[in-house]
Amino acid sequence: MVGWTRKGTVKGRGARTPFAAREAPSTVTPAAEGDGRKEIIRLEGVSKVYRMGDVEVQALKGVDLTVYQGEFIVILGPSGSGKTTLLNLLGGMDTITSGRMVVNGWDISRLTVQELTEYRRTQIGFVFQFFNLIPTLTALENVELALELVDGDHRGKAREALEAVGLAHRADHFPSQLSGGEQQRVAIARAICKDPPILLCDEPTGELDYETGKKILALMQEINEKMGQTIIMVTHNSAISEISHRTVYLHSGSLAKVVKTEVRKRAEELEW
Ligand code: ADP
Ligand code: MG
Repeated sequence: MVGWTRKGTVKGRGARTPFAAREAPSTVTPAAEGDGRKEIIRLEGVSKVYRMGDVEVQALKGVDLTVYQGEFIVILGPSGSGKTTLLNLLGGMDTITSGRMVVNGWDISRLTVQELTEYRRTQIGFVFQFFNLIPTLTALENVELALELVDGDHRGKAREALEAVGLAHRADHFPSQLSGGEQQRVAIARAICKDPPILLCDEPTGELDYETGKKILALMQEINEKMGQTIIMVTHNSAISEISHRTVYLHSGSLAKVVKTEVRKRAEELEW
């Protein structure tokens, strides 16, 4: 299925230069080294309040969390517990109400709008529940679109990414000509083609059948292991926590607990 390695067609962590090398803005905090692991995400007392007229919704309440480079983190919690809010904040698509959030040296809470755009463009790949592909573009064009504003050979990079997710032979198909699982692979190719250090996934298997969902999880696990990307995956399927390094439990906007997975499973072994 996925045939690349660190030295393969898609750049591995060791080989990467183009985007990670781009300087983070002046609001940078040096990443701390804990147990020899590099800290990549730090949340300190992060809160998010949505205001709708007179009504206030406290979507996140004082969340503290540190994530290390290369970790596969699963975020579990019932509907309305703040999972998507947390992901959107990490993705720079929304701003925190209070607290502090530093991602790969970028102090998100203090970025200008322009810096935030640059942050999203260089640091984050997003995989959504409903794939969010553009129906009038082919698989290849959908991936290429993500490379807009990036230097270099777009078509070549897009093809590499499609190859990495096992979809090279579907490059010229439109989303409507692809199965759900294939569409999600295109979306994953779109997320990884710029080689961002962090992948954020919101219920990536929510719309897929059991077997297809497991294959997508296997692909994410492989990307995490071979490309070294840090993955934050939101789900309400507790079985998925078994492939994580750690699982973060959210409850009513608060971080209830963080649990280390003692014996990690391969995605293929999961049952739910
Ligand atoms: P989850 O993804 O765990 O289901 P969300 O993060 O989507 O939870 O939502 C957390 C809480 O914040 C919910 O009560 C939700 O209704 C509220 N919320 C989320 N987004 C908005 C928004 N844009 N405006 C107002 N309230 C919101
Ligand atoms: Mg959600």
